[in-house]
Amino acid sequence: MFTDSHCHLNFPELQSRLPEIREAMAAARVTRALCICTTMEEFGDVHQLALDHDNFWATVGVHPDTEHMTEPSVADLVERAALARVVAIGETGLDYYGMEDRKGGRTIADLEWQRERFRVHIRAARQTQKPLVIHTRSASDDTLAILREEGEDGSAGQAGGVFHCFTETMEVARAALDLGYYISMSGIVTFKNAQHLRDVAAFVPADRLLIETDSPYLAPVPYRGKTNNPSYVPYVAQQIAQVRGMSVEDVAALTSANFDQLFKGVVACD
Ligand SMILES: [Zn+2]
Ligand SMILES: [Zn+2]
Repeated sequence: MFTDSHCHLNFPELQSRLPEIREAMAAARVTRALCICTTMEEFGDVHQLALDHDNFWATVGVHPDTEHMTEPSVADLVERAALARVVAIGETGLDYYGMEDRKGGRTIADLEWQRERFRVHIRAARQTQKPLVIHTRSASDDTLAILREEGEDGSAGQAGGVFHCFTETMEVARAALDLGYYISMSGIVTFKNAQHLRDVAAFVPADRLLIETDSPYLAPVPYRGKTNNPSYVPYVAQQIAQVRGMSVEDVAALTSANFDQLFKGVVACD
């Protein structure tokens, strides 16, 4: 019934508990999950999860924060995107958060490699006609500008995709929707101080909304601070149901239908 559109089940803290997590998912009626790739090195593990389990699918891509790892070419991504059960390109995008500390005092100008890498992913997505899973943090203007420059401007024939773990403003949500993109809400929407995200969750059209855990990170309330896993995605749905004045069953159904619509090739299940 529920679909987790973004998780990292290959990360050791989840992979080592996979049987237990799959049981918890079944008990919580989380019937599907998309396993997200963040480095070329881990693609084999991410892909294997999707090959081994008929309710998991995989993506291929390199996270914007990944450094000192294999840099993919368009051809590298296209080749892997053609493999069975690989349904999207990403996660990719831009991350300018923490320039002082996380990025060692570098400037945005120094991060040209992130923008180049993002363009490579967009080109692969357009070539394969598979959607992009976009990570954007403190970088929404450049993310939107580069998408448009690469032809992702809402026109027919674009790759399309989703802004995952959405934490931006209403204005950015509008701009993403104008490009024809989906918006995915994570457990952050349940956090006390995230009223602006609840406003976004109420605003996004019903046919453009997805839910995710981004596990092992960002566990929703009441598990905030603990290790997240896909069986917690109903808590995200519950919060969205509350702000939209809908039943949680309806949120589960519409976000699952949107998942089918965006990630073509996934098998619908109830
Ligand atoms: Zn991300
Ligand atoms: Zn992620």
